[in-house]
Amino acid sequence: MTEPHTTEETNNTVQAHITRARQRLTAAGCDTPKLDAEVLLAHVLRRDRTWLMSHPEAILAEAERSTFAKFIDRREAREPVAYLTGSKAFYGLDFVVTPDTLIPRPETELLVETALQWATSSLTSSSSESPKIQKSKYSIVDVGTGSGCIAVTLAKYLPEAHIMAVDMSASALAIARQNAERHGVAAQIKFVQGDLLAPVEKLVDMIVSNPPYVHPEELVTPVTSPEVNHYEPRLALDGGVEGLAVIQRLLAQAPDCLELGGMLLVEIGATQGNVVKKLAQAKFPAATIDIEPDLAGLDRLLVVKNRVD
Ligand code: GLN
Repeated sequence: MTEPHTTEETNNTVQAHITRARQRLTAAGCDTPKLDAEVLLAHVLRRDRTWLMSHPEAILAEAERSTFAKFIDRREAREPVAYLTGSKAFYGLDFVVTPDTLIPRPETELLVETALQWATSSLTSSSSESPKIQKSKYSIVDVGTGSGCIAVTLAKYLPEAHIMAVDMSASALAIARQNAERHGVAAQIKFVQGDLLAPVEKLVDMIVSNPPYVHPEELVTPVTSPEVNHYEPRLALDGGVEGLAVIQRLLAQAPDCLELGGMLLVEIGATQGNVVKKLAQAKFPAATIDIEPDLAGLDRLLVVKNRVD
């Protein structure tokens, strides 16, 4: 890459490509057109966005130009940026994602944060709310693991945990395994193809899940963005009747799989807090049950602390 001299070169700078791509993505209705253009160009050039900012006059090579043009065509058709770059950051770690997996969402970090807080406090404090889990090793099952972002992050931060990651989709499990290897935690995680908690044979200390919970009638554009609706796996989104059928089945199975003093965490939709709380109370009548909001203040997480005895 050198400095521009001719008009042709001026049209072919980092700055010129970003400007044109931003205009196209704005017209296509993308939410963050400038950021998307920058992330995609940085990816093509194998640089970071800071480099782009400091090299607006750099000239693209022919191969870079054509790769970037293809990415912008696909992004214009509203393909998610994460599927184009093949990765997404979650809880400070980078995850491989493909159209076989849901793209990790920032709101799911609430589930991970809650799980980590509870696991570390119940492991270290003797006056903890969960005295039954005063042990050095414990077991977690992640239901519907997808890219594995929850299971891998928990494994990374809880080196003593044994984790089972379950998914219906063999292709999602392959990605989850790849992510576990990438982050050096594959030995801690068992990957199992199956339906919800069916593969669980022994009581576990913690059940975590980001199940599909979208109401099928909402899986239409523009209620759901084209990025989600046209590209992300329906299996990971469509929650069945009222968006609650999968959560209901999970709650029906959970009491037979969860240790006394154990915890169940399930991500839910913003309008599902009250109904999910009632469903959970019916299955866990003696448990402490809360619905926690995400950073946007929307109901996002069911927290069930199982009775201790
Ligand atoms: N939060 C996701 C969305 O709004 C839904 C994820 C899910 O169903 N688990 O698209």
